[in-house]
Amino acid sequence: MEIGGIQALRAWRKGQSGTVALVPTMGALHSGHQALMDRARESADLVVTSIFVNPLQFGADEDFVKYPRPFAADKALCEEAGVDFVFAPAVGEMYPSAPEVRVSSGRMGEVFEGAARPGHFDGVLTVVAKLFTLVKPDIAVFGLKDIQQYCLVRRMIEDLNFDLELVGLPVVRDPDGLAMSSRNTFLNAEDRSAALAIPHALEAAVEAASSGAGPGDVERAARVVLDAAVTAGGIDVDYLSLVDAGNLQPCPNDFRGSALLLVSAIAGGTRLIDNAPLEF
Ligand code: AMP
Repeated sequence: MEIGGIQALRAWRKGQSGTVALVPTMGALHSGHQALMDRARESADLVVTSIFVNPLQFGADEDFVKYPRPFAADKALCEEAGVDFVFAPAVGEMYPSAPEVRVSSGRMGEVFEGAARPGHFDGVLTVVAKLFTLVKPDIAVFGLKDIQQYCLVRRMIEDLNFDLELVGLPVVRDPDGLAMSSRNTFLNAEDRSAALAIPHALEAAVEAASSGAGPGDVERAARVVLDAAVTAGGIDVDYLSLVDAGNLQPCPNDFRGSALLLVSAIAGGTRLIDNAPLEF
Protein backbone atom coordinates (compact mmCIF):
# COMPACT_ATOMS: atom_id res chain seq x y z
CA MET A 1 0.00 0.00 0.00
CA GLU A 2 1.34 3.44 -0.94
CA ILE A 3 0.52 6.67 0.89
CA GLY A 4 1.09 10.16 -0.42
CA GLY A 5 -0.05 13.55 -1.60
CA ILE A 6 -0.68 14.93 -5.08
CA GLN A 7 2.76 14.31 -6.58
CA ALA A 8 2.97 10.71 -5.37
CA LEU A 9 -0.61 10.03 -6.48
CA ARG A 10 0.05 11.34 -10.00
CA ALA A 11 3.22 9.25 -10.32
CA TRP A 12 1.41 6.15 -9.05
CA ARG A 13 -1.63 6.70 -11.29
CA LYS A 14 0.53 7.04 -14.44
CA GLY A 15 1.96 3.58 -13.82
CA GLN A 16 -1.43 1.83 -13.50
CA SER A 17 -3.33 0.20 -16.33
CA GLY A 18 -6.14 -1.55 -14.34
CA THR A 19 -9.49 -0.05 -13.33
CA VAL A 20 -9.49 2.22 -10.27
CA ALA A 21 -12.21 2.63 -7.61
CA LEU A 22 -12.11 5.72 -5.39
CA VAL A 23 -13.49 5.91 -1.83
CA PRO A 24 -13.44 9.53 -0.63
CA THR A 25 -13.36 9.95 3.16
CA MET A 26 -12.41 12.43 5.86
CA GLY A 27 -10.72 9.68 7.90
CA ALA A 28 -11.59 8.50 11.43
CA LEU A 29 -12.49 5.35 9.57
CA HIS A 30 -15.06 2.86 10.85
CA SER A 31 -16.91 -0.20 9.55
CA GLY A 32 -19.11 2.00 7.34
CA HIS A 33 -16.03 3.21 5.47
CA GLN A 34 -14.71 -0.34 5.41
CA ALA A 35 -17.88 -1.55 3.66
CA LEU A 36 -17.24 1.08 0.96
CA MET A 37 -13.64 -0.11 0.57
CA ASP A 38 -14.75 -3.76 0.37
CA ARG A 39 -17.20 -2.83 -2.37
CA ALA A 40 -14.48 -0.85 -4.17
CA ARG A 41 -12.16 -3.87 -3.95
CA GLU A 42 -14.84 -6.07 -5.59
CA SER A 43 -15.57 -3.54 -8.34
CA ALA A 44 -12.13 -2.59 -9.65
CA ASP A 45 -8.53 -3.78 -9.96
CA LEU A 46 -7.18 -1.02 -7.73
CA VAL A 47 -8.58 0.94 -4.77
CA VAL A 48 -7.70 4.50 -3.83
CA THR A 49 -8.99 5.84 -0.51
CA SER A 50 -8.66 9.55 0.07
CA ILE A 51 -8.35 10.86 3.62
CA PHE A 52 -8.80 14.60 3.67
CA VAL A 53 -10.65 16.76 6.18
CA ASN A 54 -11.82 19.35 3.69
CA PRO A 55 -11.88 22.85 5.22
CA LEU A 56 -14.04 24.15 2.37
CA GLN A 57 -17.08 22.19 3.57
CA PHE A 58 -16.96 23.37 7.20
CA GLY A 59 -18.58 26.60 8.38
CA ALA A 60 -16.59 29.01 10.54
CA ASP A 61 -18.35 27.83 13.72
CA GLU A 62 -18.18 24.10 12.88
CA ASP A 63 -15.92 21.28 14.03
CA PHE A 64 -13.06 21.45 11.44
CA VAL A 65 -10.38 21.83 14.11
CA LYS A 66 -11.72 19.19 16.47
CA TYR A 67 -12.71 16.69 13.75
CA PRO A 68 -10.95 13.40 14.74
CA ARG A 69 -7.75 12.57 12.82
CA PRO A 70 -6.47 9.16 14.00
CA PHE A 71 -4.14 8.71 11.02
CA ALA A 72 -2.20 5.65 12.25
CA ALA A 73 -5.41 3.67 12.89
CA ASP A 74 -6.80 4.83 9.54
CA LYS A 75 -3.71 3.58 7.70
CA ALA A 76 -4.02 0.20 9.43
CA LEU A 77 -7.70 -0.08 8.44
CA CYS A 78 -6.86 0.78 4.81
CA GLU A 79 -4.07 -1.81 4.75
CA GLU A 80 -6.46 -4.40 6.19
CA ALA A 81 -9.10 -3.50 3.56
CA GLY A 82 -6.60 -4.05 0.72
CA VAL A 83 -6.38 -0.40 -0.36
CA ASP A 84 -3.65 0.20 -2.96
CA PHE A 85 -3.13 3.94 -2.49
CA VAL A 86 -4.08 6.19 0.42
CA PHE A 87 -4.32 9.73 -0.90
CA ALA A 88 -3.76 11.98 2.10
CA PRO A 89 -2.85 15.45 0.83
CA ALA A 90 -2.04 18.41 3.07
CA VAL A 91 -4.56 21.26 3.11
CA GLY A 92 -1.95 23.60 1.59
CA GLU A 93 -1.45 21.21 -1.28
CA MET A 94 -5.16 20.95 -2.14
CA TYR A 95 -5.72 24.68 -1.60
CA PRO A 96 -2.47 26.64 -2.10
CA SER A 97 -4.79 29.66 -1.91
CA ALA A 98 -8.53 29.95 -1.32
CA PRO A 99 -10.10 28.68 -4.58
CA GLU A 100 -11.76 31.38 -6.68
CA VAL A 101 -13.53 28.86 -8.91
CA ARG A 102 -15.81 26.41 -7.13
CA VAL A 103 -18.58 23.97 -7.97
CA SER A 104 -22.01 25.36 -7.17
CA SER A 105 -24.43 22.81 -5.74
CA GLY A 106 -27.51 24.77 -6.87
CA ARG A 107 -30.98 24.47 -5.36
CA MET A 108 -30.57 20.88 -4.17
CA GLY A 109 -27.62 22.09 -2.12
CA GLU A 110 -29.64 24.76 -0.33
CA VAL A 111 -32.17 22.55 1.47
CA PHE A 112 -31.83 20.30 4.55
CA GLU A 113 -28.09 20.00 5.34
CA GLY A 114 -27.43 22.88 2.96
CA ALA A 115 -29.90 25.13 4.80
CA ALA A 116 -28.28 24.32 8.15
CA ARG A 117 -24.74 24.55 6.76
CA PRO A 118 -24.61 27.30 4.09
CA GLY A 119 -21.86 26.63 1.54
CA HIS A 120 -21.33 23.07 2.79
CA PHE A 121 -22.25 21.31 -0.44
CA ASP A 122 -20.33 23.74 -2.65
CA GLY A 123 -17.30 22.76 -0.55
CA VAL A 124 -18.12 19.06 -0.82
CA LEU A 125 -18.64 19.13 -4.60
CA THR A 126 -15.53 21.24 -5.16
CA VAL A 127 -13.31 18.75 -3.32
CA VAL A 128 -15.03 15.74 -4.92
CA ALA A 129 -14.48 17.28 -8.38
CA LYS A 130 -10.80 17.80 -7.49
CA LEU A 131 -10.54 14.18 -6.30
CA PHE A 132 -12.11 12.93 -9.54
CA THR A 133 -9.64 15.00 -11.56
CA LEU A 134 -6.64 13.86 -9.53
CA VAL A 135 -7.48 10.16 -9.10
CA LYS A 136 -9.24 9.63 -12.47
CA PRO A 137 -11.35 6.78 -11.06
CA ASP A 138 -13.48 4.43 -13.13
CA ILE A 139 -15.77 3.95 -10.13
CA ALA A 140 -16.49 6.11 -7.07
CA VAL A 141 -18.07 4.55 -3.99
CA PHE A 142 -20.11 6.72 -1.61
CA GLY A 143 -22.32 5.91 1.38
CA LEU A 144 -26.07 6.51 1.29
CA LYS A 145 -25.82 7.69 4.89
CA ASP A 146 -24.99 11.13 3.49
CA ILE A 147 -27.87 10.85 1.07
CA GLN A 148 -28.07 14.51 0.04
CA GLN A 149 -24.35 14.44 -0.69
CA TYR A 150 -24.84 11.28 -2.76
CA CYS A 151 -27.69 12.87 -4.76
CA LEU A 152 -25.60 15.97 -5.41
CA VAL A 153 -22.54 13.98 -6.49
CA ARG A 154 -24.78 12.00 -8.85
CA ARG A 155 -26.10 15.25 -10.29
CA MET A 156 -22.60 16.74 -10.61
CA ILE A 157 -21.41 13.65 -12.50
CA GLU A 158 -24.32 14.12 -14.94
CA ASP A 159 -24.08 17.89 -15.23
CA LEU A 160 -20.28 18.08 -15.57
CA ASN A 161 -19.86 14.86 -17.61
CA PHE A 162 -17.49 13.06 -15.29
CA ASP A 163 -16.78 9.74 -16.96
CA LEU A 164 -17.20 7.32 -14.06
CA GLU A 165 -19.68 5.00 -12.42
CA LEU A 166 -21.17 6.04 -9.08
CA VAL A 167 -21.97 3.36 -6.52
CA GLY A 168 -24.00 4.05 -3.34
CA LEU A 169 -23.94 1.69 -0.35
CA PRO A 170 -26.67 1.43 2.32
CA VAL A 171 -26.18 2.91 5.79
CA VAL A 172 -24.01 0.76 8.07
CA ARG A 173 -25.26 0.78 11.68
CA ASP A 174 -23.92 -0.15 15.08
CA PRO A 175 -25.77 -3.05 16.77
CA ASP A 176 -27.97 -0.55 18.68
CA GLY A 177 -29.15 0.90 15.37
CA LEU A 178 -27.25 4.22 15.39
CA ALA A 179 -25.74 4.98 11.98
CA MET A 180 -21.95 4.78 12.19
CA SER A 181 -20.29 8.16 11.95
CA SER A 182 -16.85 9.55 12.73
CA ARG A 183 -18.70 12.16 14.83
CA ASN A 184 -20.19 9.48 17.12
CA THR A 185 -16.91 9.65 19.08
CA PHE A 186 -18.12 13.06 20.34
CA LEU A 187 -21.21 11.47 22.01
CA ASN A 188 -21.15 10.50 25.67
CA ALA A 189 -23.37 7.63 26.92
CA GLU A 190 -26.33 9.93 27.57
CA ASP A 191 -26.08 11.66 24.19
CA ARG A 192 -25.87 8.32 22.50
CA SER A 193 -28.91 6.96 24.23
CA ALA A 194 -30.89 10.10 23.30
CA ALA A 195 -29.61 9.81 19.71
CA LEU A 196 -31.12 6.34 19.40
CA ALA A 197 -34.46 8.10 18.89
CA ILE A 198 -33.23 8.75 15.32
CA PRO A 199 -33.06 5.09 14.18
CA HIS A 200 -36.16 4.34 16.28
CA ALA A 201 -38.10 7.03 14.39
CA LEU A 202 -36.90 5.64 11.06
CA GLU A 203 -37.90 2.12 12.12
CA ALA A 204 -41.39 3.37 13.07
CA ALA A 205 -41.73 4.91 9.61
CA VAL A 206 -40.54 1.77 7.82
CA GLU A 207 -43.01 -0.28 9.83
CA ALA A 208 -45.88 2.10 9.05
CA ALA A 209 -45.02 2.07 5.34
CA SER A 210 -44.83 -1.71 5.25
CA SER A 211 -48.31 -1.94 6.75
CA GLY A 212 -49.67 0.24 3.96
CA ALA A 213 -49.70 3.73 5.50
CA GLY A 214 -49.48 6.68 3.10
CA PRO A 215 -46.76 9.38 3.13
CA GLY A 216 -48.48 11.65 5.68
CA ASP A 217 -49.03 8.86 8.21
CA VAL A 218 -45.55 7.46 7.68
CA GLU A 219 -43.94 10.83 8.42
CA ARG A 220 -46.21 11.26 11.45
CA ALA A 221 -45.21 7.82 12.81
CA ALA A 222 -41.58 8.96 12.85
CA ARG A 223 -42.41 12.39 14.23
CA VAL A 224 -44.24 10.92 17.25
CA VAL A 225 -41.07 9.03 18.23
CA LEU A 226 -38.81 12.06 17.78
CA ASP A 227 -41.18 14.43 19.58
CA ALA A 228 -41.25 12.09 22.57
CA ALA A 229 -37.45 12.05 22.63
CA VAL A 230 -37.27 15.85 22.44
CA THR A 231 -39.71 16.10 25.36
CA ALA A 232 -37.62 13.59 27.35
CA GLY A 233 -34.56 15.79 26.68
CA GLY A 234 -31.06 15.29 25.26
CA ILE A 235 -31.94 15.73 21.61
CA ASP A 236 -33.09 18.53 19.31
CA VAL A 237 -34.51 17.90 15.88
CA ASP A 238 -33.38 20.08 13.00
CA TYR A 239 -35.53 18.44 10.33
CA LEU A 240 -37.60 15.37 9.63
CA SER A 241 -38.93 15.23 6.12
CA LEU A 242 -40.29 12.68 3.68
CA VAL A 243 -39.01 13.55 0.22
CA ASP A 244 -39.06 12.28 -3.34
CA ALA A 245 -35.77 10.34 -3.77
CA GLY A 246 -35.32 11.81 -7.25
CA ASN A 247 -35.28 15.51 -6.38
CA LEU A 248 -35.48 15.81 -2.56
CA GLN A 249 -38.78 17.71 -2.81
CA PRO A 250 -41.35 16.96 -0.06
CA CYS A 251 -43.72 14.09 -0.98
CA PRO A 252 -47.37 15.04 -1.47
CA ASN A 253 -49.84 12.71 0.25
CA ASP A 254 -50.71 10.93 -3.02
CA PHE A 255 -47.01 10.33 -3.81
CA ARG A 256 -46.13 7.08 -5.57
CA GLY A 257 -42.56 5.92 -6.08
CA SER A 258 -39.24 5.94 -4.20
CA ALA A 259 -39.02 8.25 -1.21
CA LEU A 260 -36.51 9.04 1.51
CA LEU A 261 -37.20 9.94 5.09
CA LEU A 262 -34.49 12.43 6.05
CA VAL A 263 -33.60 13.23 9.65
CA SER A 264 -31.12 15.53 11.28
CA ALA A 265 -30.88 15.95 15.03
CA ILE A 266 -28.41 17.37 17.50
CA ALA A 267 -27.36 15.34 20.54
CA GLY A 268 -24.85 16.77 23.01
CA GLY A 269 -23.95 19.50 20.52
CA THR A 270 -23.18 16.96 17.79
CA ARG A 271 -25.15 17.14 14.58
CA LEU A 272 -26.23 13.70 13.35
CA ILE A 273 -27.92 12.73 10.08
CA ASP A 274 -29.68 9.57 9.01
CA ASN A 275 -32.29 8.44 6.50
CA ALA A 276 -34.37 5.50 5.36
CA PRO A 277 -35.49 4.60 1.83
CA LEU A 278 -39.25 3.96 1.49
CA GLU A 279 -41.46 2.82 -1.38
CA PHE A 280 -45.06 4.03 -1.90
P1 AMP B 1 -16.97 10.84 5.81
O1 AMP B 1 -15.60 10.33 6.15
O2 AMP B 1 -17.87 10.91 6.97
O3 AMP B 1 -16.93 12.06 4.96
O4 AMP B 1 -17.61 9.71 4.90
C1 AMP B 1 -16.93 9.18 3.78
C2 AMP B 1 -17.87 8.26 3.05
O5 AMP B 1 -18.28 7.22 3.91
C3 AMP B 1 -19.15 8.98 2.56
O6 AMP B 1 -19.48 8.47 1.28
C4 AMP B 1 -20.16 8.56 3.60
O7 AMP B 1 -21.48 8.55 3.13
C5 AMP B 1 -19.69 7.14 3.91
N1 AMP B 1 -20.18 6.72 5.22
C6 AMP B 1 -19.93 7.31 6.43
N2 AMP B 1 -20.61 6.67 7.41
C7 AMP B 1 -21.30 5.66 6.80
C8 AMP B 1 -22.21 4.66 7.27
N3 AMP B 1 -22.54 4.56 8.55
N4 AMP B 1 -22.74 3.82 6.36
C9 AMP B 1 -22.43 3.93 5.04
N5 AMP B 1 -21.58 4.84 4.55
C10 AMP B 1 -21.02 5.70 5.40
